[in-house]
Amino acid sequence: MSFTDWRNNELSLSQVEEKYQGDVPSLVILKIDVSRRGVQYTDAALKLLDPSIHYVLPGDQSMRYYPRGLTLRDGSAICDLSVMQDKFTIHREPYTVDAVDGKAFLVDNGKILEEVEYLDKPDFLDKLTTSGTPMSSIATVRAQRISVMPGDKCHFWDKPGNGCKFCNVCASTRGKEGTTRDEKYFRDVEETVREAIKQKGRFASFHLTSGSTLSGKELFDDEVELYIKTIQAAGRAFKTDKFPMKLVASAFNKRQLQRLYDETGITGYVTDIEVLDEKLFSWICPGKTEFVGYQGWKQRLIEAVDVFGRGQVHCGIVAGVETAQPNGYSSEEDALKQVLAEAADLGEHGISISECIWSAVPKSYFAKQKTPSLDYYVALAKGLAEIRRKNGLNVYIDDYRRCGAHPSQDMARID
Ligand code: SF4
Repeated sequence: MSFTDWRNNELSLSQVEEKYQGDVPSLVILKIDVSRRGVQYTDAALKLLDPSIHYVLPGDQSMRYYPRGLTLRDGSAICDLSVMQDKFTIHREPYTVDAVDGKAFLVDNGKILEEVEYLDKPDFLDKLTTSGTPMSSIATVRAQRISVMPGDKCHFWDKPGNGCKFCNVCASTRGKEGTTRDEKYFRDVEETVREAIKQKGRFASFHLTSGSTLSGKELFDDEVELYIKTIQAAGRAFKTDKFPMKLVASAFNKRQLQRLYDETGITGYVTDIEVLDEKLFSWICPGKTEFVGYQGWKQRLIEAVDVFGRGQVHCGIVAGVETAQPNGYSSEEDALKQVLAEAADLGEHGISISECIWSAVPKSYFAKQKTPSLDYYVALAKGLAEIRRKNGLNVYIDDYRRCGAHPSQDMARID
């Protein structure tokens, strides 16, 4: 693999830290850069990984395991490392995790930067439900949240080319039938959540997501039905009617949202517009454009605030994807202006932006794209945090403990 001389063309980590000193914590900046560039592990770093105490991903052909996530010393999570372990980045070298004096450290260009911890394995993981299902197949974990994914297929892909261009989610189920969920599955969900929350202090929230399901009497009705049953199942493990949770799902209409709110313990809702630019939305998300449209998606976000309240509705974006070529912004300055203007509009309606750092993942249409500079991502995180503060929005459903994927929301700790 060869890399261009990108280091000479972009501000370095230390230059970006200096530029945003006093505005953006250096650990948030480091997290962004690691998310942007990915990581690779030395053999010594992987020797520190112990599957009996750490949460691991199955490894490559050599059957090695990899950490499911890293934690920085301020508690910030670096998530979604599942897509980063293969050094897929083609424009910049990934960071290295190496062993230094028996501890794991992030290293770049020969410089030792920060100690990282491997995410702990949750107590429920090796257990079975009463039907014999491994609980590890029912729920996953990120930061301090339990995640359940009842649908393993996104039906935007049913029409070739209609999925989102940055996405490789559900790639293995494209062209196949999705799994049907029965009563046994919902009992398994209940038992897994019940078992998980026995571990004191480990979990702060419950998270549910799937790909989009378009079928039903009205668009997305079957998706709503599946979530209602799954949240009700999880809810039987809690003593209260409502519990800290967020659903990341399609853009439902108000009737569907009200049903979710009335019939389940849900407290927060996220629906991903992905890119805050109408023209780019129709290029990057053709399926979402065909069925709902950019303005329709925005409208449904706004209506969701009537149901869930200000701050309890977030809009997910894949930050940086607005610079994808050939149709995206070639100027980072213009891209930033556009994204922050749209974010400000949503913020005034009580909606927070949950940005994920775009990395050009394998099996996505954008696999060979070049992602933006670190400076861009940090400016965006700073701008989004300012919009959130200006509108007095909390981020309790999506902060560093309850998700850990969104740099602007990591900064809620210093608001
Ligand atoms: S990002 Fe788009 S294509 Fe991927 S799972 Fe979500 S809706 Fe489907």
